Parts: sequence; C-alpha cells; structure tokens
Amino acid sequence: MDVSEPNQSLALPDDARTRDGVATTESAQHDHVKEVTNHARQEEDRGQAARQHGPPREDAEARRGRRRQERLARLMRPWWVEDPALLARELGSLAGAGFTLIHRGLTDGHNLQLGIARKKRRYQLIFEDDYPRGGLVLAQSLGPRRVQGYARHGVLRDRPATLAALRQVDEYLAQPRVQTGGRVLVPTEWRSLPEGAHGTIAFGVASSAQALLPLRLTGVNDALSARLASASGPLAAAFPYSLTGLWASGPALPGLERHTGLFAHVEKTLASAHGLSRSAIRRRLTSEVGALHVPDGYYRSSWHFVGRRPDGRPIVMTTVPLARESLGDRAPDARVLASRHVAIVGCGAVGWAVAVRLARSGVCRFTLYDDDQLYVGNLARLGGFIPDAGALKVATLADQLQTIAPSVTVRGHAFAVGRHVGAAALLEGAPDLLLNLTGEELSTDETNIAALRLGVPAIFAWVSNGVAAARIFRVRPFASACYECVRESGPPVIRSYGRIQPGDVRPWRGSVLDVEAFASTVAQVTVRTLRGDAVSHANPDHLLLDFGGLTPRARRIDIPRDPRCPRCR
Ligand SMILES: [Zn+2]
Repeated sequence: MDVSEPNQSLALPDDARTRDGVATTESAQHDHVKEVTNHARQEEDRGQAARQHGPPREDAEARRGRRRQERLARLMRPWWVEDPALLARELGSLAGAGFTLIHRGLTDGHNLQLGIARKKRRYQLIFEDDYPRGGLVLAQSLGPRRVQGYARHGVLRDRPATLAALRQVDEYLAQPRVQTGGRVLVPTEWRSLPEGAHGTIAFGVASSAQALLPLRLTGVNDALSARLASASGPLAAAFPYSLTGLWASGPALPGLERHTGLFAHVEKTLASAHGLSRSAIRRRLTSEVGALHVPDGYYRSSWHFVGRRPDGRPIVMTTVPLARESLGDRAPDARVLASRHVAIVGCGAVGWAVAVRLARSGVCRFTLYDDDQLYVGNLARLGGFIPDAGALKVATLADQLQTIAPSVTVRGHAFAVGRHVGAAALLEGAPDLLLNLTGEELSTDETNIAALRLGVPAIFAWVSNGVAAARIFRVRPFASACYECVRESGPPVIRSYGRIQPGDVRPWRGSVLDVEAFASTVAQVTVRTLRGDAVSHANPDHLLLDFGGLTPRARRIDIPRDPRCPRCR
C-alpha cells in the first residue's frame, strides 16, 4: 500500500499514472519544449517588425546579443511572475477550502513551493515550471506520515489541480491503520533477540486493522533478521496491509502492566535509543508503532507495542504469543497434507465448505475455479459475510483460506471450467487431486480428462435438489472406473425433489445443515485419498448418501471399469 512506503523525495514523480488529472512528466516536458520553440519564433517575428519601423541605433551584433538576453530573461521568468493572477486564484481556492498559507519559497530546482495547513495537518505544494501550461502540482503531507498526490493544471474543470492533489493526500491518509487496542501477534521465533539493539520494524496489518504481525526488522545481523522474517512469512498472507515502526531493546520496569507507566517507559526507551526528541517520538508514534523488546533469557523475552491516537492519546496494544506448531496438535493429518496441492472446481455451498475443511485439516496449497459472484442470498449456505457481497467467490474464499492457517497459498481463477476453459487449464501447477463440486456436466467431463492426463485422483460430488440424497464418486486413473465408465454403466439415480434444468437461474433447495454434513463427508474422502489409504468400506470409490435421517446414511456402490471406455481404456 502506498501510504506505508512514504516517498521522502520532493522530486516530481516520473511514473505514468492513469488517474484523471494526473499527467506524466514526460508529456509535460514535451509541451514545455514546444512552448520554448514558439516563444523563440515570436521573438524573431517581433525583431523583424522593429527593423522595418525605425533606424537601429545599435550595431547588429549588440542588438542580437541584447535580444538574446531579453529572450532568455523572459524564458526564465517564473510563471507566477508572468501570471500573478493565476497564483492569486490558486491561493484563493486554497483559502476557500480552509487552508492557511504558512510558507512560500523555492525548491532547489527553483520550483514554487508553498507550505500550507488545515486544522492540525500540514502540507507542502510544489508547482512545476510549466504549471500554467498543463504542468503538475505535487502535494505532500508533512509530519510523520508523508504521502503524496499530484494533479495536472487545467485538466479538471470542477476544481483546481492543487485541491485535487491535496484530496489524494487526504484519501491516502484515511486508509486503514492501527486502531485503539490493536493486537500484535508475535511468532515464537521473535521472542529471542540480542540485547541493546534498535532499528526499524515492519508490520503486516490484517484487513480489520485490529491485528498486526511483525514481518521484518533492522538493527540486528542479517542471519537473525532472515530467521525472524521466515518465521513470519507463512503467516503474512493474512496481513495484507503494511505499517512501519521503531523498536529498541531495553530493561523492564517494575509495574509495567500499568498502562500509562508502560507507555511512557516504551516511548522514553525508543527516544533515547534512536536519538529522537520527546516531541519527535511523540509525532512518529501517531502514525507508527513503537516496540520495546525486553530480553529475559532465551525463550522468555517479551515484546510491548505502543502507539498514539491521532489526538495524541497513548495506546498500549496487546501482545499475543503465536506458536504455529500448536495448530498441528489439533490436525492429525496436517504433516502429510501440508505438501499436497488440491484443485477445486466449483466454490459454491459444497466447494466452499470442503475447501475450508481441507485448509483446517492441513492442506496448504489450493487452486480454485469459479466464475460466480457472491451475493447476500449465498450467505445462507456458504461461509462469506455481508461485506463480501458482490465480490468473486474465488477471491473471498482465497482470502479466508489464507487466514485459516499459516502457509496456505491459493490461486483463484474466475472462469468456468467447461465453458471458458477446458481440461488443459486444470493441469496448471500439477495438482495432486482434483475436486469437482459443481454438479454440472461440462466441467465434470473436463475434470475427468484432466485427472486421466495428470494420473492423479479426481473426486466428483454433488447433492440432489432439496438435498434428499448425494453422490460422491472418485476416479483413480486407470485403476478404478473413470467418470465416462460410470456414465456408460447407468448407475442408480439418486433421490431428488425435482430436477434443476440447465440454464435455470433459481438456486437449488437445501439447508446449510445438510450441505455442511455432506461437505464433511467429501472432505473426509478427500483426506483419505490424499493420505493414500487403501480402498475399503471406510474409503470407497463410489458412495451414495441418503439424507432422510438425522445424519446421512452412506451406501457403497461398486462400478467396474468399462473396457471399451473411450476415455480410459
Ligand atoms: Zn473410463
């Protein structure tokens, strides 16, 4: 996120940006060159006119020299001298928007520079040489959180470029940051550091902005820095935003648990370690996190994190120890599943619930395929939340999976297998298992072909309309019947409350209670397949589920391979 990587340089940006009102420096320079050429041509014309009207008193050489000087002087006259009305208009619009002018000066490159303030916030404006001719104005916030915005003069009809640039700055400044009472999750590895060090520290921030994860720090040797970064790495996906801070090691104080005492102690330690004045550290902590490391034996050292609210009030955050291994204690198959890659076609009610169960069981790598958006109605059956409405199912599910457990990586594809892409797309990343949870024919054929081509198992599972019954069917390529063999054998039809016709946009009937019971069974079969369990009554290739009772009743079905199958013979 831009805001966390403030650009301290006052140079005008040279990258092309596509937002309205924002020009590239290159085109601005081009205009400038054109303008210079025009000026020169006008000067020549005027010179010729003068020659015709009166007898020259200077000799030709001196006259040419004087004209050259005049021309240069005119070209070097800054725009605000040439066009004072424009500057007056700019200052007027700033005053109208509540800004006070506190400084006016020049940059090293002789650009006009204005220091302005509104409420407690201070900004700087820098105008390009050719501002009146469509040049840029750069706005930058001053103080600890330096962010920039820029806009081009004359592009926006409704408001001056200066106000547009300032508005960008304010928008960046309003983006998420740590809130009061935030929590900092500290991996076990971070609890041992040498004494007496200090430096900067980078945090990842969760979307909720309430939880932080330390990612990297400076001020220690490279090996230690790399070890700490790699401890946080597997968790980083759950903390997409970034924030910077300062840290220092120091002694604990008795009675540290007292909120204000702890805060003052951390702030004082940081100020002295970093050679900052109390007011400088105070200012920095309104936008950065302060961290105190208290060494106390190899695995017993502790961290304290503080900040200040925008109004200056101190915040002491909660430190939460984070032992990644403790997840494995409760997921017995996690060690085996960690290296497995599962591709899931269809991320609806069934696919969503299966994916979540697999991630909690220890599967770390997923590829998801689904072109649907998530709507409020979907929340009745799948694990999204109201703010996710309108987002792609694959995107929201990917976010969730990555926050369920460390090291989970997800690739989401918003296209429909069978309609937009074929089997070849499913070969990406060579998954160890394919799951088709669409209950739909076209993608099922493509999944079957991909499984045979990869030589990896595929599991097909779907519920009937109304969840009266369900089917789970596993293809072990060239060892069990493939999907085509089964289709040819005409298996028993599952019980259903009517059929959903292709193209019918109404949702199928069924409660989350039944769907999740079904998803648990599908996840169970998936885990047994990934573990490499032998085929047995507890791990069958073909299973029918009857949802007539309190829990679904399972019936195993055996379907042999078809020796004439066009797909797998
Ligand atoms: Zn077959």
